[in-house]
Amino acid sequence: MSNYDVIITGSGPNGIAAAIQLQQKGLKTLIIEQANEPGGAVKTEELTLPGFQHDVGAAIMPMGIASPFFRNLPLEQFGLEWVFPEIPYAHPFPDGSAIACYKDIHKTAGQLEADKDSYLRLFKPIIQNWKKIENNILGPLSWPDSTVNLLKFGVKALPPARNLVNRYFKEEKTKSFFYGAAAHSSLPLTNLASASFGLVLASLAHQYNWPFPKGGAENFIKALLKYYQSIGGVLELNKKVSNLNTLPTAKAYLFDLTPRQLLKIEGTDFSAKYRKQLSNYNYGAGVFKIDWALSGAIPFINDKCRKAGTVHLGFSPEELEISEAKIHKGKLSDKPYVLLAQHSNFDNSRAPKDKYTAWAYCHVPHGSTADCTAIIENQIERVAPGFKDIVLKRSTLNTRKLESFNPNLVGGDINGGKPDITQLFTRPIISFSPYATSNKQIYICSSSTPPGGGVHGMCGFHAAQKVLKDHFQDLTE
Ligand SMILES: Cc1cc2nc3c(=O)[nH]c(=O)nc-3n(C[C@H](O)[C@H](O)[C@H](O)COP(=O)(O)OP(=O)(O)OC[C@H]3O[C@@H](n4cnc5c(N)ncnc54)[C@H](O)[C@@H]3O)c2cc1C
Repeated sequence: MSNYDVIITGSGPNGIAAAIQLQQKGLKTLIIEQANEPGGAVKTEELTLPGFQHDVGAAIMPMGIASPFFRNLPLEQFGLEWVFPEIPYAHPFPDGSAIACYKDIHKTAGQLEADKDSYLRLFKPIIQNWKKIENNILGPLSWPDSTVNLLKFGVKALPPARNLVNRYFKEEKTKSFFYGAAAHSSLPLTNLASASFGLVLASLAHQYNWPFPKGGAENFIKALLKYYQSIGGVLELNKKVSNLNTLPTAKAYLFDLTPRQLLKIEGTDFSAKYRKQLSNYNYGAGVFKIDWALSGAIPFINDKCRKAGTVHLGFSPEELEISEAKIHKGKLSDKPYVLLAQHSNFDNSRAPKDKYTAWAYCHVPHGSTADCTAIIENQIERVAPGFKDIVLKRSTLNTRKLESFNPNLVGGDINGGKPDITQLFTRPIISFSPYATSNKQIYICSSSTPPGGGVHGMCGFHAAQKVLKDHFQDLTE
C-alpha cells in the first residue's frame, strides 16, 4: 500500500470536491468508496425498463452549476453537458392555472398580480448582492464579506417560511409558489430558517436556471472524476472503511460520512466529549422516491408545467403547511408536497424514442416504510389527469431501501441531517471549524457539515481548506 498525503472515505460530491481541491494543491490523494460505483447519492440507473435512465438520488442541480467551487472546474472539457429546461420550475393548481419561475425575474413577477412588486422587492436585492454573500451562505459561520448585505439576507431568511409569505404576499397562489421552493428544506414551514431554502433556490433559478446533466446525474460525477484522475487523483471502489488503522498512512483523513457512521469507524480515538456531541446530532425527515417509465409526456393541464424541468405539487398554503408539519409528527398527509422532475422532456437521451421518464419524491417521517405511490400519483392526477394511464413501469424506494443504496441516507434523510436553525451553519457540532474533529488527523466533509445537503461540493471544499490550513500551511494561498 503506497502512502498518501490525504485519504478521503466516500465518493459523494463532497468527498470528490475535497479530493480535487487537495490534489490541485499538489498533494497525493486517494478516495476510497464502499460501493461498486462512485457518486454517493448521485447515480443513474435503468430502474424500470431497458433504455430508461433514472436518477436514483439527486436529479436537478442548480447548486452544482452555481457552486463557487464546481463552477471553476473545467467539467465541460471532461464530458459534462448541462441541459437547461425552458422553465426552471413551475407550480400548477387544480383550476388549470400555474405559476412559472422563469429565469427572468420580471417575467416571473408579471404573473403574480397583486404580489408583483413584493416579489421583486424580496428577490432583487438578494440576486444583485449574490456574489457578495454566496460564500457566507455556502459555508460555515464566518465573518461576512459583506456584513450589511448578509444581515439584510438573514432578516428575510431566518424566519419561518409562513411568516415571510404572510409578510410579503397577498395571493394564496403566490404563497404556495414560494412554499414549493421553501419545502425543499424538509422542515415544517412554520420552523425558523425554512424561508432560507425558498430564497436561495428561487434566487438560483433567476441567476442560473435549474439545469441537470445530459444523459443522467451520474455524468456530473463522471466529469468530476475524469478531471480528478487527470490531475493524478486515485479512486478505489468496493472497499468499505471500518477501521482507520487499516488505511494507508496519511497526514489527514477526510470522511464523507454522517456522524452516526463516523462514530462506527474504529481507531478514530475521538474524545468522549466529541463522541457525545456527534451522537446528539439530529437527522431529519425521510423521502419516498418514485421513478416512472412513461409512454408519453406528463399531461399537465397547464402548458407552463410541460416546459418546466421541475414541478412542485401542493395546492394551497394550508395543504403544504399541513403535509410538511405532519411528517415531523410521524404522520403522512394524503395530499403530500411532491417534488417532480421530468428530464426527458428536454433530454431525449433519457428514454427510448417517443418515451419519457419522470422522477419524484415526497417527504415522509424519518425511517418510514410507508408506500406513498398512490398518494403521489393522486397529487399528479389533480393537475395532469390521465397520468396513471401513461405509466409503463414504476420503481419505488422507501427510506430503508434508500439507506441500503447509500448508508449516508440515514432514515431516508437526503440532507445528511436536519437543516434546522440549530444545525444549518453549525453542523455536526457548534464550532467555527465544524470540519475538524477531536482527532487532529480526522475531518468530516459530508453534507453533515455546512452548508448541508445538495450537490454543490462546498462541504468538501471547506473541509479541504481546513486540512490545508492545519497540515499543509505552505500550500495555502
Ligand atoms: C432521492 C434524493 C434526491 C435528491 N435530489 C437532489 C437534487 O435534485 N439536487 C441536489 O442538489 N441534491 C439532491 N439530493 C441530495 C444530494 O444528493 C446529497 O446532498 C449529496 O449527494 C451529498 O453528498 P455527500 O458527498 O455529502 O454524500 P453522499 O453523496 O451521500 O456520498 C457519500 C459516499 O460515502 C460512501 N460511504 C459511506 N460509508 C462508507 C464507508 N464506510 N466506506 C467507504 N465509503 C463509504 C457512500 O457509499 C457514498 O458513496 C438528493 C438526494 C436523494 C437521496
